[in-house]
Amino acid sequence: MNLAVFGSGYVGLVAGACFADVGNDVTCVDIDGEKINLLKQGNVPIYEPGLDEIVKRNLKEERLSFTTDVKHAVQHSKIIFIAVGTPPDEDGSADLKHVLAVAKSIGENMNDFKIVVNKSTVPVGTAEKVTSEIKKYSKHDFAVVSNPEFLKEGDAVEDFMEPERVIIGTSNEEAAHILRTLYQPFVRASKPIIVMDEKSAELTKYAANAMLATKISFMNEMANLCDKIGADIDWIRKGIGADRRIGPYFIYAGSGYGGSCFPKDVKAIIKTGEEFNHELKILKAVEGVNERQKTILLDKIEHYFEGKLSDKVFAMWGLSFKPKTDDMREAPAINMIHALKERGAYIQAHDPQAMKEAQRIFTGYVGKGIKLFDKRYDCLEGADALIVMTEWNQFREPDFYLIKEMLKTPVIFDGRNLYQPSRLRNMGIDYFCIGRSSGKSPISKMYTI
Ligand code: NAD
Repeated sequence: MNLAVFGSGYVGLVAGACFADVGNDVTCVDIDGEKINLLKQGNVPIYEPGLDEIVKRNLKEERLSFTTDVKHAVQHSKIIFIAVGTPPDEDGSADLKHVLAVAKSIGENMNDFKIVVNKSTVPVGTAEKVTSEIKKYSKHDFAVVSNPEFLKEGDAVEDFMEPERVIIGTSNEEAAHILRTLYQPFVRASKPIIVMDEKSAELTKYAANAMLATKISFMNEMANLCDKIGADIDWIRKGIGADRRIGPYFIYAGSGYGGSCFPKDVKAIIKTGEEFNHELKILKAVEGVNERQKTILLDKIEHYFEGKLSDKVFAMWGLSFKPKTDDMREAPAINMIHALKERGAYIQAHDPQAMKEAQRIFTGYVGKGIKLFDKRYDCLEGADALIVMTEWNQFREPDFYLIKEMLKTPVIFDGRNLYQPSRLRNMGIDYFCIGRSSGKSPISKMYTI
């Protein structure tokens, strides 16, 4: 099939490349000419495991192309995906300006029947708005489908190639049939394609992210209670995760959720609730707990150094909002860096993939209080403490003796609970994490038969 994908970011580029990889002809469109030029030469501007190879292969085999030429892309495609950003507006609602700009471009350039598929995360009612926008500019027939995307950055290619489900929101039978055919190669392992109405599809995406954010905030609340009462959240996690009704996934305590989706999507669904006069009380609490959670580790740092952070030097491991991505949008590390800087401290940071992005975000600061290091141990030189902000695999089993030797004070503040408190204590390293200040029993163990 001939497809066009508007927006060559984390979602659009992965979707375009993966659709091409199963044999479709895909034209990826973006307004960012620099990005398109890089992509035309096979240079992928984001870090996403496996994506580079797929883009290069499909470019070479001429199933994938990149352009800023909207007219060409629209007229040569039967199915047109919208995968542009939907950032939060000032009031927290999703800003649809990019989505509606694409709808306008489609309307202006349509030459025959098109299926317009919205993959961006958008509030209930957007399919109707996209329909009216296209109608303003075109007399041609078209169908609008809501097809929210559930891929996770860091696992995006794998998630797209083998989705746990595909949601198709439409009342147009032909469009539903064509999209079911398009997705067939991806759901061979008998995962469901669920066809539903547009509004339910739009809300499904927000409900999924809101539920995941709720799990995180819930565990963070339990972790903070653990700290108060002297229990260990890691044991609580194992204990509740063994219950099939709860499950072991996504119940890790930490420094709060970040990224380009959870914070904005929780805000947007709260706003939708308000618009429909329905207060989403749980989600307001989820958001509040998350805001508080971003400061929990800072409180521990301040307490340890008795409030005297001025001129202290902190080594920081991890800047991206989660491992396996270079994305720093709403990363808890950013909050931590700003808070430490406000208190007069210096930061020496390293991330396996987000260095370029950090350089961009902290322009102006770099060299004036923030230094970025390509190697993880180099940033420990002259530091008073190590702070771990992202659970990259390469931080899980470091040389603790070297860390202890290099730090002025042997202390680690771990916002991701990567290490065993007793192991570090035995090595003479002070260790602070989230919700595991005790859990002291020497015979604690999980037995499986
Ligand atoms: P992104 O910021 O990485 O990419 C968006 C791209 O759209 C940019 O390259 C931008 O230049 C381009 N763009 C903007 N206006 C355009 C226009 N008029 N025509 C063509 N291109 C245009 O965003 P993303 O992370 O890929 O997210 C896209 C959407 O998918 C959002 O609604 C997001 O909430 C949703 N989503 C994201 C993820 C994720 O993990 N990033 C997962 C699922 C859903």
